[in-house]
Amino acid sequence: MSWKVVIGLEVHSELSTNSKCFCSCKNKFGGEPNTNCCPVCTGMPGALPVLNQKAVEYAIRMGLAVGCKINQYSVFERKNYYYPDLPKAYQISQLEFPLCVGGGLEIEVDGKKKFINLDRIHLEEDAGKLIHDVSGTLVDYNRGGVPLIEIVSKPDISSAEEAVAYLEKLRSTLLYVGVSDCKMQEGSLRCDVNLSLHKEGEPFGTRTEMKNLNSFRAVLRAIKYEAKRQAEVLDKGGKIIQETRRWDDEEGKTYSMRTKEDSQDYRYFPDPDLIPIKITDEYINKIKADLPKLANERIEDYMNMGLSLKDAELLTNQRKISDYFDEIIKQFNQPKFVCNWICGEVFKKLNTETYEDANIELSAKQMANLLQLYHSGTINQAVARQLLDEIWGTDLIPENIVKEKGLAQISDEKGLEEILTKIVNENPKAVAELKAGNQKTMAFFIGQTMKATNGKANPKLVGEILNKIIKEC
Ligand SMILES: [Zn+2]
Repeated sequence: MSWKVVIGLEVHSELSTNSKCFCSCKNKFGGEPNTNCCPVCTGMPGALPVLNQKAVEYAIRMGLAVGCKINQYSVFERKNYYYPDLPKAYQISQLEFPLCVGGGLEIEVDGKKKFINLDRIHLEEDAGKLIHDVSGTLVDYNRGGVPLIEIVSKPDISSAEEAVAYLEKLRSTLLYVGVSDCKMQEGSLRCDVNLSLHKEGEPFGTRTEMKNLNSFRAVLRAIKYEAKRQAEVLDKGGKIIQETRRWDDEEGKTYSMRTKEDSQDYRYFPDPDLIPIKITDEYINKIKADLPKLANERIEDYMNMGLSLKDAELLTNQRKISDYFDEIIKQFNQPKFVCNWICGEVFKKLNTETYEDANIELSAKQMANLLQLYHSGTINQAVARQLLDEIWGTDLIPENIVKEKGLAQISDEKGLEEILTKIVNENPKAVAELKAGNQKTMAFFIGQTMKATNGKANPKLVGEILNKIIKEC
């Protein structure tokens, strides 16, 4: 009997509040090292933390979006450990009374739906960063004290593909509710993987925790590697050691970092500097009322507009795209037409594999104007595409360019008839082929007409006129 893989994910997501979790330092990525810190976030004696209410609000917002129960009594605790990026020698976190419990997300892999339960979402602070260079190791405390939510799943995930689907859904939700920018390359979304193997009907095996997973691809590869490694150890009669392992992306292997600690090793206790928070129904309801529409609701809206499920899903994969679509159809209400252009021409211009890098360098106003010109027949498709290239990354208005450059399509029947008659007379062989039923020759005539009109002829009209001429000659 083969091994069953059991995976639980711990996702850390930095919250995009203006200031840090317990002090007024700016919450900003990058910057000169050690310029965004103060006595509180560097743990100087006598400095006292003050909770950032926005961080609590953001954590609750995410909790509500994934169906968590909000704990109305919540406590911050000190997680005690020493590391040079943590000058206080403890991290303010939550153990017994996290802000959110339960909830979950539905994922789909190979057409199969599955619900992944969450254990909890709690609020904590980030640590600083160690920078290793030739002179040795340096420390930057800018990131210390940045608010994080840790989203802990139940061990419901059973494959690398499910783990990635879960992460994608989680990231999409974080972006929809607008609490994090989810930039993996900047570390604002990080993921640790707990993995163990067992046989059907037997208790879970000993798990290892993998760290240093900096992309979804790394998560996918690391899970496959680690599941195989554990199976090999177990098959030989060996034992899995409970430990933390570091993923080496270049080598495609995991390495033992340290034996894994349990929560009791951290000597958690309630932080005496922070009083427990009490959250009222009123406050929760207010956050609930302000929640933006999530992907599922938008998919429903789009299908009501006449879009297919597939189109609706394509548009809602990224909130940015969905917002863009909504903005365009406010100005030009042709959902299917707009959707085709976004999923075709716009996607071609974006790197859609990485959500965070998708940068639509064209305003909804410009796009609506371009599509209006095309839809009304003022310009043809070739010119519309050419214009898209021209205005991408600029603030040029399509209709102005059409006027300036005389790009409006030629729908003047008489003029086109003259041009086509000339082409027909010059190409008797192609005419014969077309008459013999070779429809491919049609493309030749349209091509020639486009050439003669600098690409501005109305292709539909060209076809109609050509058929008429051919019939008559
Ligand atoms: Zn500070």
